Amino acid sequence: MFNTTTINRFQQLETPFYYYDLNVLRKTLETCSNAATQYGFHVHYAMKANFNPKVLDMIQSYGFGADCVSGNEVKAAIEHGFGKEKIVFAGVGKSDKEINLALDADIFCFNAESVQELVIINDLAKAKNKIANIAIRINPNVDAHTHHFITTGLEENKFGINTWQLPDVADALRKCSNLQFLGIHFHIGSQITDMEVYKSLCIRINEIQDWFENHGFKVKVLNTGGGLGVDYHNPDTNSIADFESYFKVFKKFLNVKPDQEVHFELGRALVAQSAALISRVLYVKNGLKTNFLVLDAGMTELIRPMLYQAYHQIENLSRDSEVGSRKSEVGSQDLTQDSELKTSDLKYDVVGPICESTDCFRKDVELPQSYRGDLIAIRTTGAYGEVMVSGYNLRDRVGSVYSE
Ligand SMILES: *Cc1c(COP(=O)(O)O)cnc(C)c1O
Repeated sequence: MFNTTTINRFQQLETPFYYYDLNVLRKTLETCSNAATQYGFHVHYAMKANFNPKVLDMIQSYGFGADCVSGNEVKAAIEHGFGKEKIVFAGVGKSDKEINLALDADIFCFNAESVQELVIINDLAKAKNKIANIAIRINPNVDAHTHHFITTGLEENKFGINTWQLPDVADALRKCSNLQFLGIHFHIGSQITDMEVYKSLCIRINEIQDWFENHGFKVKVLNTGGGLGVDYHNPDTNSIADFESYFKVFKKFLNVKPDQEVHFELGRALVAQSAALISRVLYVKNGLKTNFLVLDAGMTELIRPMLYQAYHQIENLSRDSEVGSRKSEVGSQDLTQDSELKTSDLKYDVVGPICESTDCFRKDVELPQSYRGDLIAIRTTGAYGEVMVSGYNLRDRVGSVYSE
């Protein structure tokens, strides 16, 4: 991701910033698109993972649809050229304003998350003399086996509708004349790398679609959601998510009828590896047992480690990388010391400048001896990174830099 030219370029720039490697993004989109197309699968990009304009434009150019979770995301999808027939709108708390916006835009489908919401969408559609397409988001009660903060498919969860509520859903759908039932929707969690989890999901989807068909509802769309994980530990050697195995599981285990469409909503897997957060060391502080690297980026620029205890690889671009694979020509330290780096590798708590003790990217990070001014890369931050930036402490808005 970084060669000497790139690192030299970084030296001229104000930090912190997100660095987007558009080649990595392109390769990822191409791989995903090819893997999905061979089975006739449709992929909607889950825009909440990253709505950087350049990223959106590129994803749109590969023909992906958009999975939105707010009215503004629907608006952005349209502005960036995603066809309205490829826009879906999910979310447990869609406001009337957002529903109206999506109705006016004639989006492809609302993924409805409660019976109450069905009634409201119906009322608002009726007022506009429109028919709203509906997919029902169902909790399949499949455990994604990821961190409990990012698991969404279990019954005790604010998202979706539980299977024991399906008779009420069927009643509501029959009564609501301005709703058109299209299909069923699932999203069981995020950062899933165990394909067995998706196999379990397929088996549940097959049962649930049978339930709908048996109750007189034609299921045209099977939307399996997203959640495919990426390799946060090996961003260079394993930079593309395993789209091939992922789609193969659905091909093998999902009962797809001839006139049905299968939809996916991938976020993280499409964008995570294409960005790194680049920051500078402000101070090196020695505690009693701990060395602190104080960066000029913190939880206001990247909150995943603090919010979900997420792991990100951290590299010192000015000395040597954490994996020891690169040596750069930059930095104020005499490079003749490089031969000693192996023995002088230190452990640092890598922290940000924000006035919160939780503002720590990771503890005990092994890095070459580091100095004020060193460039630090926090890898695999293309998903749920820049989009979660906050203005806490009245911080400057983090920059974006592109490989081209
Ligand atoms: C967040 C979300 C996704 C995307 O999840 P990833 O883990 O980024 O793939 C898909 N569908 C819905 C409904 C979501 O909320």
